[in-house]
Amino acid sequence: MKKFTLIELLVVVAIIGNLASILLPSISRAREVSIQAVCMSNLKQQAMALEMYLSANNGGMPPHLTTPPPPYIPPFRPHRLATYMNGTLEDSKEVFECPKVTNHHNLGDYADNHAHVFPNKMSDTKGVFITLYSRPAELLSHVDSGEAATGRGSWWVPCPVTHSGLAVEASGRHLGKSSVLYLDSHVSSVKQTQVLANRDDLWGHFKR
Ligand SMILES: [Zn+2]
Ligand SMILES: [Zn+2]
Repeated sequence: MKKFTLIELLVVVAIIGNLASILLPSISRAREVSIQAVCMSNLKQQAMALEMYLSANNGGMPPHLTTPPPPYIPPFRPHRLATYMNGTLEDSKEVFECPKVTNHHNLGDYADNHAHVFPNKMSDTKGVFITLYSRPAELLSHVDSGEAATGRGSWWVPCPVTHSGLAVEASGRHLGKSSVLYLDSHVSSVKQTQVLANRDDLWGHFKR
């Protein structure tokens, strides 16, 4: 029986090494893409819950918070949306958790556009009804978010136009992109830099 020579063996080892270096990045990229798909599906489910909430409340938006501080007392926006999922936030938890995050916030890893779309029920009087928004297909409703330093999820972020460089912000955890749910219920993947730069007035800072 013919045996491999040392040279042949080394060549084979080198080829395997090359193949691995070619394939492994694409495998890890495929993994990232599937994680991102779950994340975007989470936002889509939140959109469907939001639609049901709106139709049950005559077009009224779910408030970000219910009571003015202090103290903050539930229900918060995620609790209200969960009513149209599995009933409670505890039972609907996976829908509010981005699969890329390992340290979840107990209210989820997606922020609502609190500053311009989801008001505090008792302190904001404007923007409560969905019909007040003239360009829902362009307005950010929910977005991947977290603490910039630690990667921990965050259920809340401020408007980046007035509050840049804060501890919590829209996250680029999907290969530099954020999953964004728009007010018309479509979901898209947007570069974090564009989200933070309020491209096309995504946040509705200047115009509803
Ligand atoms: Zn995500
Ligand atoms: Zn703003």
